[in-house]
Amino acid sequence: MIVVLKQGASEQQREDLIEWIKSLGLDVHLSIGKMQTVLGLIGDTGSIDTELIEGLAIVESVMRVTEQFKKANRKFHSDDSVFEISGAGGSGPKKIGDGNFMMIAGPCSVESEEQICAIAESVKASGAQMLRGGAYKPRTSPYDFQGMRDEGIGLLLKAKKLTGLPIVTEIMDLSHLEHFCEVDVIQVGARNMQNMELLKQLGRTNKPILLKRGLSSTLKELLLSAEYIMAGGNEQVILCERGIRTFETATRNTCDIGAVPVLKELSHLPVIVDPSHACGIARYVRPLTLAAVAAGADGIIVEVHNNPEKAMCDGPQSLKPEEFAELVKAVERVRAAVNS
Ligand code: PEP
Ligand code: MN
Repeated sequence: MIVVLKQGASEQQREDLIEWIKSLGLDVHLSIGKMQTVLGLIGDTGSIDTELIEGLAIVESVMRVTEQFKKANRKFHSDDSVFEISGAGGSGPKKIGDGNFMMIAGPCSVESEEQICAIAESVKASGAQMLRGGAYKPRTSPYDFQGMRDEGIGLLLKAKKLTGLPIVTEIMDLSHLEHFCEVDVIQVGARNMQNMELLKQLGRTNKPILLKRGLSSTLKELLLSAEYIMAGGNEQVILCERGIRTFETATRNTCDIGAVPVLKELSHLPVIVDPSHACGIARYVRPLTLAAVAAGADGIIVEVHNNPEKAMCDGPQSLKPEEFAELVKAVERVRAAVNS
């Protein structure tokens, strides 16, 4: 249930109302926006008398929210959420959301210190604001390279120190969480989008979570997974469309660009697109990236490798550093056109 307060409501009146609602056994999500203050009531609101609340002097309107996702719902928080992500050194925090666009780039997997540091320096020089790199890799075959694991995280931290770029890397199991202390953004991959226990634990951390859409998940399921994290107290969730399984076989997955406006309408959380895993072929990464930007995405996460032919994972979909540099310029042109 949503309770919209009148503009003149004082802080004391608001706090009294919140206290009373809590005494009824409900949780209250307070959102003080640019235009209005909204109380989101969470819990069993079935027995609440809406007319009674509507009649209160400080209340403008009351609405029942039928969707199961509450904290992720735009009705609970009308302004776009903005998260600040800090890297190393004095590079200052980078923002994502509400017009703050973030370019995230790096290899599928961390392979060596030379590889991750060289890629980090080159994508930074081209304009990336965050470095990606897989340490724990969810490979389809158990006989494929499984990632450098905690050693890979150590190398990502070296690249972070070298460039100042914040880092994002995937967690596959709760038992690895201790290795993520200095990781800036924790990624939950497509295969773990509905690992509810993992989501609940990440809800108890204070790090932004990059949540990828499951291979066969609906947008509602993605939002409910975000809700699992948010319900635990961590409201910093970045949603990521990374392509879904369809009958089409021409590309690795089918990039659902429509997910961007739909998610942005339903939720206040930042929405990014991963064109690399969505198509699986490097030459399609640029058109999909530009389409995502035009559709209103808050960022892009793209795979870049300094030697794609020799990459240990996902070489065919990886851009070369010079292709990434060109892509960043094209993204800026599309953003300028869309915002003009
Ligand atoms: C990745 O980003 O490295 C990855 C494995 O992505 P996804 O979970 O989307 O397949
Ligand atoms: Mn990959």
